[in-house]
Amino acid sequence: VLTLDEVKKDFSQGEEVLNVLKGVDLNVSEGETIAILGKSGSGKSTLLSLLCGIDDATSGNISYRSNSLKNLNSEEITDLRAKHIGVVFQQFHLLEHLNAYENVLLPLEVNGNSDKSERVDYFLEKVGMSHRKSHFPNQLSGGEKQRIAIARALVTHPGVLLADEPSGSLDENTGGEVMDLIFDIVRDERMSLVLVTHDKDLAKRCEKIYHLENGVLSLED
Ligand code: ATP
Ligand code: MG
Repeated sequence: VLTLDEVKKDFSQGEEVLNVLKGVDLNVSEGETIAILGKSGSGKSTLLSLLCGIDDATSGNISYRSNSLKNLNSEEITDLRAKHIGVVFQQFHLLEHLNAYENVLLPLEVNGNSDKSERVDYFLEKVGMSHRKSHFPNQLSGGEKQRIAIARALVTHPGVLLADEPSGSLDENTGGEVMDLIFDIVRDERMSLVLVTHDKDLAKRCEKIYHLENGVLSLED
């Protein structure tokens, strides 16, 4: 589904240039689950923001189902992201003024698919949050918010789910439940998963483990 070829990302901080990614190669197949492990500051979140098209690579190529992001304009990238890529973050990023149901519906509205609202109920049920659909984010616990964020990420049936420390701000039990849920749904819906984490045990639940170190990605054997 996703291919990265010699992807580099620099940040300029005043006079200095920080080479965060120095040539990342990666290939994620349909339905494959991979983990990216790396120390704090190694560039994991940066890599994920390139994968979902929130930010541009300095050089190199990223393709999604053989559509190179380079050949798409920003509108087409937004469209591709909205339709095919789901993202879950450590800090849920729910919209505070929308209730749980409306948060999950939003991606369908953006895609002009509001008529498929039965999917909202389907995914709220899947994440066990049907009874919380009228609650606003400030009325939900962290674990509940993350379940809503997962439903929102999946409601468009994306081919790939990108997850950046999805259990990082939850206690151990709740985080474990949220991760079980992610792995179950990804398997049921035959999606690919790119999981960014610094938790080695969690990474082991993925089919492949990559290490991001000194700006390059290497596969663990
Ligand atoms: P963590 O595990 O703490 O989340 P990370 O691996 O996700 O870390 P990134 O957030 O990708 O790390 O950051 C990698 C490096 O790039 C850091 O040194 C950070 O300061 C720098 N960086 C990230 N975003 C920017 C930006 N917009 N401008 C300048 N520097 C940035
Ligand atoms: Mg990060």
